[in-house]
Amino acid sequence: MLTEPMWRASARCRRDNAVYFFAPPHFERKPEKDAREGAARALCRACPVQQECLEYSLEVSEPHGIWGGLNELERKRLVRKRAAEREAAQQYA
Ligand code: SF4
Repeated sequence: MLTEPMWRASARCRRDNAVYFFAPPHFERKPEKDAREGAARALCRACPVQQECLEYSLEVSEPHGIWGGLNELERKRLVRKRAAEREAAQQYA
């Protein structure tokens, strides 16, 4: 069982604004998604634990929501980019 990470105590996202961080159960049109994610990203930009949150979400392969200011697709892109950078660094080591 995973324990609650320490950084969560300093998180800007709380129960009352959690609605911005995850897609609703009904179909969400792109403008609505963009607005919701924009609100979440604004909170993330001002969050003192943004990097810890992002790294945690990558570590546990969090499949949903905004974490550390990035949505699911952006996190997947970041994982691929880091893997490519590691591979390139090994080739020149
Ligand atoms: S970076 Fe964003 S999602 Fe992560 S803890 Fe902070 S406000 Fe919440």
